[in-house]
Amino acid sequence: MSSPTFDCTACGACCFGGHDRYIAILPMDRDRPIPETATHEIEGRRYMKMACGHCAQLTIAPDGQTLCAIYADRPEACRAFRAGSFECLKARQHRGAEALALRAFAMAQKETAPPPVETAPPMMLGQGADQPPADTLNPSP
Ligand code: SF4
Repeated sequence: MSSPTFDCTACGACCFGGHDRYIAILPMDRDRPIPETATHEIEGRRYMKMACGHCAQLTIAPDGQTLCAIYADRPEACRAFRAGSFECLKARQHRGAEALALRAFAMAQKETAPPPVETAPPMMLGQGADQPPADTLNPSP
């Protein structure tokens, strides 16, 4: 959820939580196609998997936006979280710095990534600039 004054795609703090039971999958999520690989089970109940202190489905887009990889199917706990609510302000206060650091890290990784390796077309025997024509080469003994 977003509002003109609270841009969730520039935050992501509410997707950060300090433990593996941060986002519970509730009975009302039964019909949502939440990938099973995105969840884990603890003592008979399912929760969203966490990674590095945040929900593993939180992703950073190339332009630095914080996005949910399963937004259309996100669990009820996430849907109930309202931008600008008391919980939102609390998350921003307590986890905003972590979200900011994650975005900064992701953007820095992008900037320092090595350039893509250019693949040269396959060189045919005798076509290289410093190779003699193929018909002048002696066959191997
Ligand atoms: S499911 Fe999506 S909205 Fe919910 S905590 Fe994970 S990344 Fe955030």
